[in-house]
Amino acid sequence: MATQPQNGKQRIDPLTRARQQMVERLRSKGINDARTLEAMMAIPRHLFVEEALQTRAYDDHPLPIGFGQTISQPFMVAWMTQLLGVEQHHRVLEIGAGSGYQTAILAYLAKAVYAIERIPELARKAQQRMEQLGFDHVLIKVADGTLGWAEYAPYDGILVAAGSPEIPNPLLDQLVIGGRLVIPVGDDKQQELLRVTKRETENLIEDAGPCVFVKLIGEHGWRE
Ligand code: SAH
Repeated sequence: MATQPQNGKQRIDPLTRARQQMVERLRSKGINDARTLEAMMAIPRHLFVEEALQTRAYDDHPLPIGFGQTISQPFMVAWMTQLLGVEQHHRVLEIGAGSGYQTAILAYLAKAVYAIERIPELARKAQQRMEQLGFDHVLIKVADGTLGWAEYAPYDGILVAAGSPEIPNPLLDQLVIGGRLVIPVGDDKQQELLRVTKRETENLIEDAGPCVFVKLIGEHGWRE
């Protein structure tokens, strides 16, 4: 009969340990949705940044991903995900896929994810990462996300990962009744993170607090 080694603890690789610590930090900062925390533990954020930045991937900071863009801070990703309230049967639209990290978190939680990114090279890399993770229920396209993606509408939730001067109307049009849009709205320095719940009559707008995002550039966002 084979015997198990009794000495020593199981070794956990440093990036997994760093990810566990990141999740603990998120919990202590107020992220309490169990599925969001599970997704943050499941998706290896270090695969979404350049190799030279991998050891910093689990710090609570945005990091550069090229083209003047950033991968959002883990807390912001978790917070937006929690606000969106993604359920297993949901079909979700994401605007500003960037590295694809938030896309992967949503893909872990939802039935289907449609993501739009305006910079072709970022979209291509994000798509590669989806394949690497085995997510075949994610579609990414290169386009102006402020117009939404009418072909697959309506969506149960829409998450915008870039700051806009206003709430783009096409996005509200592409939500189901009861669906939620999470979007940073403000000037180019600071925004308020809004959660808009679509209703038959007047939409419900909740302000989740201040945030800082790169610009949403497009027809219903900032002009370049
Ligand atoms: N969730 C991403 C955030 C990337 S930063 C991540 O964590 O990696 C925001 C992204 O929005 C950038 O990649 C930028 O190119 C993209 N973006 C800005 N305006 C856009 C638009 N109108 N349509 C689609 N993507 C847009």
